[in-house]
Amino acid sequence: SPPARSCGRVTLSDDVAVGTRGRVEVSGLTWRPFGRREPVLRGVDLTLEPGERVLLVGPSGSGKSTLLRALTGLLGSVEAGELSGAVTLDGTAPGSRPGAVGLVLQEPGAGVVAATVGRDVAFGLENTGVERSAMPARVAAALRAVGLGDLPLDTPTSALSGGQTQRLALAGTLALDPAVVLLDEPTAMLDPGCAAEVREAVAALTADPGPDAARTLVVVEHVLGPWVDLVDRLVVLSSDGEVVADGPVHDVLAERREELLGMGLWVPG
Ligand code: ADP
Ligand code: MG
Repeated sequence: SPPARSCGRVTLSDDVAVGTRGRVEVSGLTWRPFGRREPVLRGVDLTLEPGERVLLVGPSGSGKSTLLRALTGLLGSVEAGELSGAVTLDGTAPGSRPGAVGLVLQEPGAGVVAATVGRDVAFGLENTGVERSAMPARVAAALRAVGLGDLPLDTPTSALSGGQTQRLALAGTLALDPAVVLLDEPTAMLDPGCAAEVREAVAALTADPGPDAARTLVVVEHVLGPWVDLVDRLVVLSSDGEVVADGPVHDVLAERREELLGMGLWVPG
């Protein structure tokens, strides 16, 4: 029988703990797509320490999704445009190690690649050199880490709620043991209950990971309130693709409140 569409509790899991890594350095990143007069990103400088949790915000069209794509290493190679500056992950090109950077997109289901839960999480592992015999344990650990450990592996992906589908996408990313996890408006299309369930999975993923389990996190969201206690740092992009604020989340919220409200963001307090 298909699983309940309820939004279950997520519990902390250290099953997917990994070594310390995930230092991201962006320096002087400017990108102008061909056919556009103005750059989308302008001189972005950003250093993320291993395990740091960052909320990235800005008006619609400010380049948030573009910056996340830059962090995966795809910008410039796959998308046509003029790129200058540099992005490195632990000193090398982020695209050089498959799975090192995981990106979860806004639309639940955008990343679903298989008909069942188990095959979906295993899919990404199939070309990574992970031993076949090691795959079931990796799949199970990733599903447990996002609170989907009780779902039978043969559950149809089409039977999942929006929140479960986003957590499945996160599990597929975690199975690849990423040093950096990027979430592009992961709750924007979910009802409040399912959005809370996704945030809980993210919180469990990053809460007190210890020195050997760092995973750097960047989340893009419009509604800031539910995220402020889950992140360390707030980075703000202006409408023309420049970093205009960057600091401890509560400091930036206090100092830039009017500016953030003016960007159409939902600011707490
Ligand atoms: P955000 O995620 O902050 O809403 P995006 O990064 O999606 O913004 O897009 C920023 C701007 O860059 C938009 O005007 C968008 O149309 C443009 N853009 C993004 N990617 C491309 C591309 N590959 N080619 C042309 N324009 C692009
Ligand atoms: Mg976007």
